[in-house]
Amino acid sequence: MANQEDLFKKIIAHAKEYGFVYPSSDIYDGLSAVYDYGPNGSELKKNIRDYWWKAMVQMHENIVGIDAAIFMHPTIWKASGHVDAFADPLIDNKDSKKRYRADVLVEDHIAKLEAKIDKEIEKAQKRFGDAFDVQQFKDTNPRVLENNKKIEEIKHRLYPAMEKNDMAGIKQLIEDLEIVDPISGSKNWTEVRQFNLMFSTQLGSTADSASEIYLRPETAQGIFVNYLNVQKTSRMKIPFGIAQTGKAFRNEIVARQFIFRMREFEQMEMQFFVQPGTEMEWFKYWKEERMKWHLSTGIDKSSFRFHDHDKLAHYANAATDIEFAFPIGFKELEGIHSRTDFDLGAHEKFSGKKLRYFDNELNESYIPYVIETSIGLDRMFLAMMSAAYTEETLEDGSERVVMKLPPFLAPTKVAIFPLLKKDGLPEKAREILTMLQEDFMCFYEEKDTIGKRYRRHDAIGTPYCVTIDHQTLEDNTVTIRERDTMKQDRISIDEIRGIVSQRLRER
Ligand code: ATP
Repeated sequence: MANQEDLFKKIIAHAKEYGFVYPSSDIYDGLSAVYDYGPNGSELKKNIRDYWWKAMVQMHENIVGIDAAIFMHPTIWKASGHVDAFADPLIDNKDSKKRYRADVLVEDHIAKLEAKIDKEIEKAQKRFGDAFDVQQFKDTNPRVLENNKKIEEIKHRLYPAMEKNDMAGIKQLIEDLEIVDPISGSKNWTEVRQFNLMFSTQLGSTADSASEIYLRPETAQGIFVNYLNVQKTSRMKIPFGIAQTGKAFRNEIVARQFIFRMREFEQMEMQFFVQPGTEMEWFKYWKEERMKWHLSTGIDKSSFRFHDHDKLAHYANAATDIEFAFPIGFKELEGIHSRTDFDLGAHEKFSGKKLRYFDNELNESYIPYVIETSIGLDRMFLAMMSAAYTEETLEDGSERVVMKLPPFLAPTKVAIFPLLKKDGLPEKAREILTMLQEDFMCFYEEKDTIGKRYRRHDAIGTPYCVTIDHQTLEDNTVTIRERDTMKQDRISIDEIRGIVSQRLRER
């Protein structure tokens, strides 16, 4: 655990040092849970966004994209349930003065009990070897059974309390479980209060309540309210999807986890409209599709898992999270939800406009059901950074940090170095830069030794470095060096494009 915490700190420091992510308003000591992306970060983020868009929109003939405004009619958030229910229960510890999400304190307690069960299983597995039957062990081991019973009892109290907004019930649960502040170890808690996560502001110059609007807390509603416009103008037939990427804002209670939980972040969402009754089929389809997408980045399967929800949101009839093994533990990276006709139904009611679809084949009209896939771009960025960050000790005993990003996502594809800053080498190197930069993100660098330049590009994940030397002037060959193997080859200038293109196609 200490190692993982250490790793998280290293990634944050690396992200700042190499121009991936800076604290927002850094010269004013930052702004809590808000971050800026630097030159390498904005490239990586753009590449992830483009890759998602390509997989969802370009590769599906029945999915189209939109780009809705952040400001929306305030009644939308009434209809969606956000005004009344988009709140988290918060609690303060009077000794440490730290604020927590009360439900998360309880969830963390459950996670500890689950970890105990996993430990028991692991121990038994070692003891019994091949003959070990996990299910039988889970069904019979008294310690496992006891912890499972405790977990069930806690869930049995937590979920209904959350559902009914029973703040006193959650407080009682925290007291009964004797949950302590992870920082101070104290049990000196305040009451639990509901806190709405939406930011509000005023539209126009009159400051009456009628002009109060919200910064959208999710991009999905922009898709719902445009569903008929899009369906008609794109002549889409059910099943079809609408995709969108864009900023969302939440006044998160606890935001201490770098870009994992931010107050301003970016989402990539797709709503897939289907015939009622077929939603479970499509839910399964999108679960599998989205997992395939994650695995196509080359990250090992063991870093992902599904977490099916026991407790469903008011609008859902099935939900799962794709969780990723972040350095802070397995946590939600993407949500896949079967949202029924909740949203379109609510908008029909609140707007007074019919949002039905006439199905020619069935010869009837209905409000479509919706499967949603919703991923945080910043969380995906953090997942890629966490998976890519590698410290290596080389044969000569020196150390290097390499960002083993999939080449197609790397901020820079080719770094171009003249060996020396004279003898016509920079001019030749710039010729190569001009030749390649229209197709690939390139970086030209002539300062420092070649070794140092290699290290800098390892640290940002550049898959290829190309060095121009005196021999280049004679025979048009260069040295190309690959990031992961550090292998160097002498090739002709004409071959660079082919080698790089080939590598960028790897999925
Ligand atoms: P969590 O339980 O972590 O608060 P959520 O279940 O509220 O997340 P959703 O409303 O399903 O999240 O949002 C979809 C996705 O948006 C999440 O899977 C996550 O990747 C991303 N996301 C949500 N909140 C944040 C945030 N504050 N900062 C960064 N990304 C976020």
